[in-house]
Amino acid sequence: MKKPVYLDYAATTPVDPSVANEMIKYLTPDGVFGNPASRSHALGWQAEAAVEAARKQVASLIHADPREIVWTSGATEADNLAIKGAVAGRENAHIVTSKIEHKAVLDTCKWLEHQGVDVTWLDPEPDGSISLQQVLDALRDNTVLVSLMLVNNELGTVTDVAPIGSVLRERGILFHVDAAQAAGKMPVDVTSMQVDLLALSGHKVYGPKGVGALYVRRSPDVRIEAQIHGGGHERGMRSGTLPTHQIVGMGRAFAMAQSGLEQEVQVLESLREKFLAGLEGLDGVSLNGRESGRVPGIVNLSFDGVEAESLMLGLRDLAVSSGSACASASIEPSYVLRGIGLSEEQANRALRFSFGRFSTEEEVAFASSQIVEVVGRLRSVR
Ligand SMILES: *Cc1c(COP(=O)(O)O)cnc(C)c1O
Repeated sequence: MKKPVYLDYAATTPVDPSVANEMIKYLTPDGVFGNPASRSHALGWQAEAAVEAARKQVASLIHADPREIVWTSGATEADNLAIKGAVAGRENAHIVTSKIEHKAVLDTCKWLEHQGVDVTWLDPEPDGSISLQQVLDALRDNTVLVSLMLVNNELGTVTDVAPIGSVLRERGILFHVDAAQAAGKMPVDVTSMQVDLLALSGHKVYGPKGVGALYVRRSPDVRIEAQIHGGGHERGMRSGTLPTHQIVGMGRAFAMAQSGLEQEVQVLESLREKFLAGLEGLDGVSLNGRESGRVPGIVNLSFDGVEAESLMLGLRDLAVSSGSACASASIEPSYVLRGIGLSEEQANRALRFSFGRFSTEEEVAFASSQIVEVVGRLRSVR
């Protein structure tokens, strides 16, 4: 079977070959395979040094102190740790979040709601934004945490978090930001954004799957309760033997993301332009989200009169994604698109195209020509 053109970088990225080459050095008998918590021999010390070097690399991308980085198994776990960890032990707690967060945040907040925590679910504007005023209006005396994503994984839209962070800091309310889709795609600075907790993932940034991190601010000191116990690793916040190879991979990937950020954003902007230019001949195409205040690599489009499911079947040579989820027999339209006000019908006509480091001009040109052809064919048989 021919390999499809990969346009699903927002779902996951391949590991950069230089990252994979680095990782293998921390696995095999001739490598640094020791337990980073082993204090009694060189293989442990070397593994620990590698973990600490990676901690610096990840911290550096978000302008944090390495001591503020807690390793996790991914952004899902980091979101769980941030939200459950902030609420744990707080009587009568209230959380504010939005309806278009990643499931890692939504489902965690839903679970807490079942446990008796009050949750306010903000409705974003039709362009995907959450305003400072909306957040202010939702705050209560017992609000302990606000959780918002920096870049939406379906729309590519960026939330202006700094003004929100500033108000929350003044009021002593914790601010958690899911930055899994932002790292490596735009500048992220935890100080200017005034966030207290920030979730990161390795595999959205050309690192391996199964590793991530939570930034936990030290000054002012943020306290969260561990959700995984057993040995007190990561300053008591997350126990478990550290996966040295995964961590080294994530560190290397984040260092590459930092040094190549500007250039990569430029290349992705031009690929996006090329892709959209290739669709210009096609009527009835609308961009979901907005044209400004977004990252370049994610393009979410609705096609009038064409079901996304049929379109995907026609686009066999492209690996793309619709935000819809299969709930038993029926197909549920994307809750993110519904959340920004699209009708069920409009949401069922949307596909997400996401580009990345290994995308080429030929690939995006091929993608747009395929879309023009298949959409045209599907419309003509209606
Ligand atoms: C991918 C993603 C996650 C989950 O990250 P994992 O590392 O796969 O657990 C969380 N939030 C957002 C916005 C994501 O895109």
